[in-house]
Amino acid sequence: MEKEFVFGHQNPDTDAIGTAIAYSYLQNKLGFNTEAVALGEPNDETQYALDKLGFKAPRVIEKAAPEVKAVMLVDHNEPQQSVSDIADVKVTHVVDHHRIMNFNTSDPLFYRAEAVGCTSTVVWKLFNEQGVEIPENIAGIMASAIISDTLLLKSPTTTDDDKKALEALAKIAGIDVQSYGLAMLKAGTNIAAKSEDELIDLDAKSFDLNGKTARIAQVNVVDLEEAVVRKEAFIKAMQDSSAKNGYDMFMLLITNILDSDSVAFIIGDEDAQSKFEKAFGEKLQDNEMKLSGVVSRKKQVVPPLTEAFN
Ligand code: MN
Ligand code: MN
Repeated sequence: MEKEFVFGHQNPDTDAIGTAIAYSYLQNKLGFNTEAVALGEPNDETQYALDKLGFKAPRVIEKAAPEVKAVMLVDHNEPQQSVSDIADVKVTHVVDHHRIMNFNTSDPLFYRAEAVGCTSTVVWKLFNEQGVEIPENIAGIMASAIISDTLLLKSPTTTDDDKKALEALAKIAGIDVQSYGLAMLKAGTNIAAKSEDELIDLDAKSFDLNGKTARIAQVNVVDLEEAVVRKEAFIKAMQDSSAKNGYDMFMLLITNILDSDSVAFIIGDEDAQSKFEKAFGEKLQDNEMKLSGVVSRKKQVVPPLTEAFN
């Protein structure tokens, strides 16, 4: 059987990389010939999980079409978050937990999307439905993905299915969810070692807001102040990146993973700024907005922004 790639979105997080590894394993057990690859290097949090579980990082691809004719997507569907030549390959499978936007295929496909906290929760169900046993390290990387996406089950995106999946997977993997999870999340919060340019690109996604391109990045910390003192340099990096890449607006969400609170830096024209204020019901002061209790870009940031711009 001809090989297919399995991958998550650009600027991959632990779900994008971990679930690609798990879904590739499952598909190979079901008779497909797949390779888990990635659209970027793992971040510090993901690297921590890969190291702990004995995985090598999936190799990074720039394009898919030179190597394969068909691909399977996990943790995304929007073309601008996918491989650059996604239009040149056939998408045969999608497993996701995001909104569906601008996604089209010319052929029928397997598409499974659920409004749960993590793609690995959906893949855990697929393993069970197919009666495929989950090896210890695969269970560990799936548990890591769920811990990452749900911030240890504290994000408002968390569902009962995520809780069940994490409990079952942690048991197979033999990990203590609280101690392993906190250590893994903390491994991703070392912002002191990184430049503002790097930090605004680590976990960043582009969204179409009624014809305008919004770049929304998120950085996890254990102390908001550590990021706020670097505000001027962050704003400069966001302006440079917007000019270079043609973003109409840029939002950097800085999230304290310990107390589930965020502060945002936002740049854009006057109209964009007033729409951000409308979306969150908060005033922008000097490009800064406090967003109490906001931790999820997918559930608490993108939907109100989409509504404000439409
Ligand atoms: Mn993701
Ligand atoms: Mn995800």
